[in-house]
Amino acid sequence: MSLEQRLKDVERRIADACARCGRDPGSVNVVAVTKYVSANTARLAVEAGMRHIGENRWPAAEEKWRLLEGKAVFHYIGSLQSRKVKDVVGKFDYIHSIDRLSLAEEIHKRAEALGIRVPCFLQANVSGEDSKHGLAPDEMSAFVGAVGKLKGIRPVGLMTMAQIADDAEATRPVFRGLRTLRDEINGLRLLDEPLTELSMGMSGDFEVAIEEGATWVRLGSVLVGHEEIEG
Ligand SMILES: *Cc1c(COP(=O)(O)O)cnc(C)c1O
Repeated sequence: MSLEQRLKDVERRIADACARCGRDPGSVNVVAVTKYVSANTARLAVEAGMRHIGENRWPAAEEKWRLLEGKAVFHYIGSLQSRKVKDVVGKFDYIHSIDRLSLAEEIHKRAEALGIRVPCFLQANVSGEDSKHGLAPDEMSAFVGAVGKLKGIRPVGLMTMAQIADDAEATRPVFRGLRTLRDEINGLRLLDEPLTELSMGMSGDFEVAIEEGATWVRLGSVLVGHEEIEG
């Protein structure tokens, strides 16, 4: 299937999910996750109309970033080591995976040095699996309060990863939990501006995530596929 066709298919599935819950499809943004494909395929994806590119490792993403700088919006979606912050801030337009204060402080410092504010998602571990990064939901409000003081960061929303499930329906409570958490936090008025975004849903479960309010879905396999690539 061509990348254009894949994109059309995904857009149709997003529209169907939105129709089921009365949402405007324009409120759902798609990040094409290119970590499984070559830089050339990432370029073709952008030419096919995918505007947002997601990567989860630096320097694996470097070649794609150099090729597509200025042609795509870059999202850092993976767990981020503090020593990689200097490589990522200033290149990636969004960071989806802030999961500890030390990382937030590094990003803030780097952003201040560059004179920018980085839009960021704070990652929550709603499913409660040990293997998942992110704050426990009951730690999130204190975390938001602390991150809100760092001027190099503009918190835009929350992010989570659901458990891998054969039945996407099983992930619904996780997505609903993230939305509830965001709404509770907004009710506390800890930030100058409310958290509007929810980054949740991947190839296997994005329709359920949209029904539960996702504003960003991160799609790899279903959208750009897999290739044998080096590194
Ligand atoms: C790889 C990855 C995705 C995309 O995974 P698919 O299931 O292939 O869509 C989404 N989010 C994160 C954080 C990832 O690492």
